[in-house]
Amino acid sequence: MLVRRISYYDEFICLQGACPQSCCKGWRIPLDDRAIRRFRKEKGLLGLELKLAMHGKAQPSFSPYCIRCPFLRLDGRCDMQLRKGERYLADICRVYPRIIACPGPYAELQLDLSCVHVAELFLAHADAQYFVEEESDAEYERTGDNEDMEYLEMLGKSRDELCSFVIAAADAEALDAALRKLAAFGGRVQDRMMREGISEAEALAEGAELLKSEATDLPCFPLPIALLNDLMSTDFYQDALRYVLPFLYKLCKMYYRHFDKLSYEQGEKELQRMFAKYIAEKPQRVHMYAAYYKSCLLRTYMECYEDYSFLKHILLGVIGSNMIMLFDLLWHEKYGKTADEDLAKIISVCERRIYHNEAVGKEMMKLLIKRSDGI
Ligand code: SF4
Repeated sequence: MLVRRISYYDEFICLQGACPQSCCKGWRIPLDDRAIRRFRKEKGLLGLELKLAMHGKAQPSFSPYCIRCPFLRLDGRCDMQLRKGERYLADICRVYPRIIACPGPYAELQLDLSCVHVAELFLAHADAQYFVEEESDAEYERTGDNEDMEYLEMLGKSRDELCSFVIAAADAEALDAALRKLAAFGGRVQDRMMREGISEAEALAEGAELLKSEATDLPCFPLPIALLNDLMSTDFYQDALRYVLPFLYKLCKMYYRHFDKLSYEQGEKELQRMFAKYIAEKPQRVHMYAAYYKSCLLRTYMECYEDYSFLKHILLGVIGSNMIMLFDLLWHEKYGKTADEDLAKIISVCERRIYHNEAVGKEMMKLLIKRSDGI
């Protein structure tokens, strides 16, 4: 089987006890059916611990209140893995942060930036994100139901095109224009395919034409402060973050302390000032934001093969890039620099909140569409 691995895939090794932002804290851990059967059969002390740890009848999970996995030891290592080995763990614990997609004749292996170490690897390879292809004996379970191979191929080409389009943006203005065009592309392709029923080939070709035309007047990067403020006012920020994702809580507090006392007009001027100052000091940062957007496309765009939600996948990347940029600016303003390890933590918590909390991502996306009067 043809296997494509993201260029830095093999470099990932879990930091375990040395991880500054363990994935065993801050979210619910859903269990797969095989793990549930295995855990229910377990006898003795571990059996009792598992029974106490599993919450919910139909589809039990660990850590239902998103605080921490009960098997996470004080030294940051997994107690269950140490006692029973990696194979015993639930699928999600064994596979995370790897993303394995097998839509048909090939498999794609990528890494999830919600893991802080993956975010560090991304930053080290921001300029070199590509797939390494090889024929492999490994077999991967088919993901999804669509069997339209022609559409799959078209979608792959479309993703390559969008990735090179966004990464070509040399400065902030060009990145803004590129994201505006991508948003228009997503809206048009989705509408034409889903509402008007035209063929995938036609819709994608029409969309590609939009990339050559004038950008719409919807600002995409940076988003206006009024819109960023609205996004912050969704469930993205909650008091419970203090316990669930303390680093994101700290970032949100930094935002409110900085902008709360300002009117929208003053806030917009302040955002523009911070952005211009930062980009003047670190012009290459724009390239990192573009590379982050590219990584969103690489990881999620092919989901359109199953869900046809072009706009969703394009806008979530716009939201993610903007939230990361906002916190990057605030951090830099406060501490005089954003080291890569801090930026990796910023990326990781934003990814957790936007991409791994479906309700939050959906709410933010709807708001973006509404505030921009549709796309
Ligand atoms: S977040 Fe990543 S590096 Fe940290 S414990 Fe989880 S998998 Fe390991």
